[in-house]
Amino acid sequence: MLSLKTPVASLPTVSSRLLKKLQRLKLETVADLIFHHPWRYDDFSKIYPIRDLLPGARATIRGRVEQIVSRRSKWRRQLLVEAVVSDATGQLRVVWFNQAFLVKAIKVGEELYLAGTPEMDRYGLALISPVYEKARADSSSVHTGRLVPIYPTTSGLTNKQLRFLISRALVALPRVSEWLPKSILDKYGLLGLRDTLKHIHFPGSAALLERAKERLKFEELFLMQVKALASARDLRQAAAPALDFKEAEIKKFVAGLPFKLTDDQRLAAWEILQDLRKSNPMNRLLEGDVGSGKTAVAAIAIYNTALNDYQSALLAPTEILARQHAETLSKLFSSRGIKVALLTASNQRLIKETGDLAVSSKKELAQLIRSGQIDVIVGTHALLQGQVQFKDLALCVVDEQHRFGVEQRHLLKEKGAGSYSPHFLSLTATPIPRSLALTLYGDLDLSIIRQLPSGRRPIVTKLVDQANRHKAYDFIRGQAAAGRQVFVICPLIEKPEPGQLRRLVFDDRKAVAEEFLKLKKDVWPDLSIGMLHGKMQPKEKEQVMKEFASGKQQVLVSTSVVEVGIDVPNATVMMIEGAEGFGLAQLHQFRGRVGRGPHQSYCLLFSYNLSAEAKERLEAFVKTTDGFELAERDLALRGPGEVCGTLQSGFPDLKFASLNDLNLIKKAREAAGLLLDIDPDLAKFAMLSAKLEKWGRETHLE
Ligand code: ADP
Ligand code: MG
Repeated sequence: MLSLKTPVASLPTVSSRLLKKLQRLKLETVADLIFHHPWRYDDFSKIYPIRDLLPGARATIRGRVEQIVSRRSKWRRQLLVEAVVSDATGQLRVVWFNQAFLVKAIKVGEELYLAGTPEMDRYGLALISPVYEKARADSSSVHTGRLVPIYPTTSGLTNKQLRFLISRALVALPRVSEWLPKSILDKYGLLGLRDTLKHIHFPGSAALLERAKERLKFEELFLMQVKALASARDLRQAAAPALDFKEAEIKKFVAGLPFKLTDDQRLAAWEILQDLRKSNPMNRLLEGDVGSGKTAVAAIAIYNTALNDYQSALLAPTEILARQHAETLSKLFSSRGIKVALLTASNQRLIKETGDLAVSSKKELAQLIRSGQIDVIVGTHALLQGQVQFKDLALCVVDEQHRFGVEQRHLLKEKGAGSYSPHFLSLTATPIPRSLALTLYGDLDLSIIRQLPSGRRPIVTKLVDQANRHKAYDFIRGQAAAGRQVFVICPLIEKPEPGQLRRLVFDDRKAVAEEFLKLKKDVWPDLSIGMLHGKMQPKEKEQVMKEFASGKQQVLVSTSVVEVGIDVPNATVMMIEGAEGFGLAQLHQFRGRVGRGPHQSYCLLFSYNLSAEAKERLEAFVKTTDGFELAERDLALRGPGEVCGTLQSGFPDLKFASLNDLNLIKKAREAAGLLLDIDPDLAKFAMLSAKLEKWGRETHLE
């Protein structure tokens, strides 16, 4: 009898070769197989006539094999297997890559079901790398209503093999135990875990598959919400140092700023200072558009903390930002006897007034922090992993990280915040509409800076049509000649390889590597151009950004990775290729990368395949500079996933659910609340806590 722990090696057909491949997928036991979920299904119940196929639209056909041959392609010397199949309505070419055995496995005259996405290549319409199954000539009913699971796999391991092994593994299903409390299953009409697993692999019907998916989505969101509510509850019960509001000094500090605070900044600062007075930790998100002056608000909180003789930490996502913050704060605090240190992997120093105070070593700096001689420690998130110990950390400000998890709080506590939890303030430029923030982050308080400081010159935004592309290039050259810098954003890193992920719509999108070469060679041979994309090593990325920030490059061609991070006041043009492919909130983030200095700045949008709907969206973007308004529009038009897609982190990786499942999120939240009401001691739900812990390890709640 199989148990959940039976190694896959003892299943039939598992040779040592197959075993290696299974290990590559981390499929080591029967349980691993049971929990290896399909990522999609092929619906063999709906058969399309070949005549009705459209490029780009997934479909299943049933056809007779007329011809099948293999050959080596010139391109990359891949082995191609090409077949021609026909049905009563027409003929279709089918292509597989590197699956030589198919020539033997499939014979002329056989009837096949083929499922895949037809694409147009230079010989016409073809089905590229479809999954296939032999049809029994006598009956079409075997396949009727059949949803065939397609699993994530690895090379040399077919979906058929996986399906076979999983069907064997499912014999052990009775040994899987339910971990969701029965009351919750009943209340929300959810499928039990065993049925869920059965139907997720081999759906009894489309309706049962939906219920199985619903259960998996629910449990994921439920864990997320239990975790959030439990940590909110723990926070309410945790102790934090109550900090006096040093009104007189704060007023003086504010009066000494080189600008007058906006009303929104004032209100946000006031809300924060009120939170700091409480003896349980603040957990507040400060949202404000790029340039809205969040740093000044954070500085007020930090200053008030220092006046109370406690330490603050400010964490930034990149070294460059950390350095900028350290310098800004040290300037603000220079005359007030408050010491600021910068602590990053490559840079450890104490900043005093406008210059550095020499410290002989990392060790010495660590000692100064531990003994409380340094008031403000600025660093990257690596600070949490590092050796640093604080004396009495009372406030932690996190820039562009959106949310802080229990683990990070825990880490900071261990770093010597004493017996209490520090107050937390997250800063974000992503305008998450209040309604959405409350659903997702019900455990956070929100402050919003909606107005920009007055006197800002709005960024001129234009939708440029192809006819004017060259004018735009000339305009950019003019900006560069005047000493300014330029971002060029492209949607993709490289074009998908032929035959692999070929999608017609991508073909004319600008790929970074290619665009980089083109701009260098044909467009601006006279300018210095850098390139940045997400596949680069973090060190490489930092290096490129540093060089651009220092003015070494005039143009930076980049994917969306440029979103978070650099402040280059000298950059005045943000040029976006394939703009229709980005959400409004994300476009707005790009736009926020320019206009940060004294110069008039521009955002130029380029687009292909502009549908009427896309045009309307982009025109709305051209007209408004209010990030919240754009986010609300995204929310209404494209759903929360779009708005949150611009967040680089801060959300757990959801495997099944999406942030667009707002209704399910609400239910999960309610269920989580019920559970905590039934028994506030989560440890009593042994299986659930084990699940929570495992889930916490796998997903990174930041
Ligand atoms: P962000 O919210 O994007 O972090 P910053 O805090 O970096 O914005 O502020 C952007 C710039 O605006 C800084 O140079 C800052 O000194 C300036 N600034 C902040 N508040 C005001 C204000 N009320 N009036 C004028 N300038 C301001
Ligand atoms: Mg900022």
